Order: sequence, then C-alpha cells, then structure tokens
Amino acid sequence: MTAIQALRGTRDILPEEIGYWQHVEAMARQILSRAAFREIRTPLFEQTELFARGIGEATDVVGKEMYTFTDRGDRSITLRPEGTAGAVRAFVEHKRFATGGPQRLWYCGPMFRYERPQAGRQRQFHQIGAELLGSADPRADVEAIAVAVELLGALGLQSLRMLVNSVGDRTDRARYRSQLVDYLTPHLADLDPDSQDRLTRNPLRILDSKVPKTQEICRDAPSILDALSPESAARFDRVQQALTDLGVVYQVDSRLVRGLDYYSHTAFEIQSDDLGAQATVCGGGRYDGLVSELGGPETPAVGWAIGMERLILLLQQLQPLPADRVDFYVISRGDRAEQQALKVAQDLRQAGFSVEMDLSASAFGKQFKRADRAGAAACVILGDSEAETGTVQLKWLAAGTQETIAQADLATKAEQFRTIIQGDRA
Ligand code: ATP
Ligand code: MG
Repeated sequence: MTAIQALRGTRDILPEEIGYWQHVEAMARQILSRAAFREIRTPLFEQTELFARGIGEATDVVGKEMYTFTDRGDRSITLRPEGTAGAVRAFVEHKRFATGGPQRLWYCGPMFRYERPQAGRQRQFHQIGAELLGSADPRADVEAIAVAVELLGALGLQSLRMLVNSVGDRTDRARYRSQLVDYLTPHLADLDPDSQDRLTRNPLRILDSKVPKTQEICRDAPSILDALSPESAARFDRVQQALTDLGVVYQVDSRLVRGLDYYSHTAFEIQSDDLGAQATVCGGGRYDGLVSELGGPETPAVGWAIGMERLILLLQQLQPLPADRVDFYVISRGDRAEQQALKVAQDLRQAGFSVEMDLSASAFGKQFKRADRAGAAACVILGDSEAETGTVQLKWLAAGTQETIAQADLATKAEQFRTIIQGDRA
C-alpha cells in the first residue's frame, strides 16, 4: 500500500526540533505574563463571516487564502487565518469590555492560509500574538511593541529591523487614498495585474506590492505621513518619542501598510535579513475599528503577531539545541530481572528522574550501546543475580565505575547525586 504523506504546506514538528518550539512558547509565556498579558485559546475554526468582516473582503487573506468549507449543517466555516479576529470575537462575546480598564490577551497556535509554500511560508503555520484592547493611549502602542521587542531579545535575536509608520485615522486614510489613486491612475498600465485590481478595491495595499516595476512606481508616490491630520501626526510623534525613550531602535517607513483593513494609526513590522524573501517575523499595529465592526462597543486596540516558523528558522541559525538526554537507562535481561526493571524505573521516575527502559531483552552489549545513544548519566543493570538478591548494578557512564545497590535504596542513592546526574540539564 502506498504511504500517505502530510499535505503540501504542512509540516510535522519532530522530537529533534520540538525543543525550539517549547523554548519559544515558554519564553513567550514568561515575557507576556510579566507584562500582564493573559493567555486566551479560541477555536481553530469560526464562522466565515467573522473573517470576512474582521479582516476585510479586499485583503489577500480573505480574497484568496482562506480555507473555507461548508460543514454538514450547511454552515460556511473557515479555518482561522489569523488570531486577532477570534480573540476580538471572544472579547465581545464574553463582554470582556465590561470589566473596565484595558484587557491584555495573548495567544499561540496554528493558523491556516492557502498560500504557495516556500521557506518561511506554509499553509498551516503558527503565530504568537498579543492584543491590548481598550486603550487609545499612544503608550499602549509602545507597550505592545516593547513586549514584542522584549520577547525577540530574550530569545537572543539581534540585528532585527523595526519599521514603524502611521496610517492615520479613517479621514486621513480617505484623504490619502484619493491622493494615491490620483498619482497611480496615470501609471495604471504599468502596474502588475494584482495592483491594477487593487486600485479601486484597496489602493493602499499597492504600496506593499513585491513586484519590482510596481515598487518603482510607488517610490515617487505621495507619502501617507503628509496626509495625516495635525492630531494624527502628533500622536505618531508621541509613539516615536516613547520608543526612543525605551531605547527601541526603529526606522520610519511611510510605505508600510499592513494587509488588513482594520488597522489605524500605528503600523509596524519587525524584519530580519537572515530569512530571504520572507523577511517579516512580526507584524502588528493599531486596529481601532475592529471591535465595533464585530458588534462590540467602540474599543481602541493594538496588537501584533509573530510568525513562529520564521522565528525558529532564525533560532536554528543561532544555536543548536542541546541534545535530549535521560538521567537513567535501565537495562535488564532474564524474566525476573525484566519484571523488576519496571518497578525500578517507576521508583526513579517518581523520585523525579527521567528514565528510559530498554524493552529489547537483547544482549547486554546491545543495550549498553543504546544507553550511550540516549545520553544517560548512568545505567541501572539487572541480570539474574541482581534479580535474585533484589539489587541493581549502577554504572556511571562518564566515569565507568560501577556499584551494587539494593533496589529499595536506589532512589535515595540517586538523590545524593542529583546535581551530578542532571547537571545543567535539570
Ligand atoms: P506576508 O507579507 O509575509 O504574507 P502577512 O502580512 O500576510 O505576511 P500577517 O498576517 O501580518 O502576515 O501575520 C503576521 C506574521 O505571521 C508574519 O509576519 C509572518 O511572520 C507570519 N506568517 C504569515 N503568513 C504566514 C505563512 N503562510 N507561513 C508562515 N508564517 C506566516
Ligand atoms: Mg500574507
């Protein structure tokens, strides 16, 4: 029979690699909870309408990339392409706005987009995201950005590039949109087909185009920063000042417009030169219009999402994972010994040690080889004579020394050597 393979654009994360994921998740949990963000887990699928409304029909995500299907009850369902819409739906559904004061939420998990798979781009990928709901204060933008910077820094990632921009409020954007359309219309024929299509539907997104000819045309386009009202411009100044005060290094990029319709004012991206074409590790910004768009009260909000695959690609370039090792490897041969080995392994595990048990019943020599491969600090050996006397041989693999210990005393004995056994891998 032919073997079945994982779908294109999806990947298995194997045990040899899982350490990176666990490290990133643990660090995210630590950094975000220190900043009083609390974790939320929302469903992996939602009504299609949530994303159509919350992300916007004119975006690539909704227009081309969603995994949408009809379920057995004839409902249109979509696998979540991002985390903000679901978090905001939950915020509204559970009336979290009524608690007074801002809510800081974070999430982590798989997202689904029908895209062309390549390095750093998958159909099932993972994001860590944070949302600060309920504050319009420019300090909220800066707090959110600073947490992302903190997390990436704590993971040891340096030489990342922070780009910030302001896309103003609705009025600023309407003003800018018509300036941009006026500028681009004479160039219509030279734009790529996608951008031609966007000129009427979502002209700001043309600035985001990766097509060289379109980029060249955009270079001389009017800047959105010149279209900001004095209030919006002052707000952007405050954000920049606070970033500078915190020592966050950034560049202003007036072409930075996020792909989603609900963004307002601050938009930002964190990029790396070490990722090839998929350079953006983190994207985010302010989305003051979203909560009301999804049926909640007017609620200003700001947030971001980090692409975990891209983050881990960077970590892998930085440092190899420490090998997975066990404290003890239990070797046994002969009926009684094999029976007793189960209990010996259980005792050590209950005492807090990691223990791998050999189940092969093969020659001792073979079992020893596997103990080496498991990176064990010590072997616990049971043969016929140990089974007879209720003892084990304890063999320290680094030193090569061996001693006889009563099975009942093993956990106590191991405890005396815990720091040596677990060393820096405890
Ligand atoms: P891109 O321009 O790379 O498509 P995007 O604007 O669609 O990014 P966002 O929706 O802002 O991305 O998502 C935030 C982050 O999630 C991205 O910066 C990226 O790191 C990651 N990401 C987005 N799509 C994918 C994907 N298909 N595979 C892997 N990571 C992704
Ligand atoms: Mg995309």
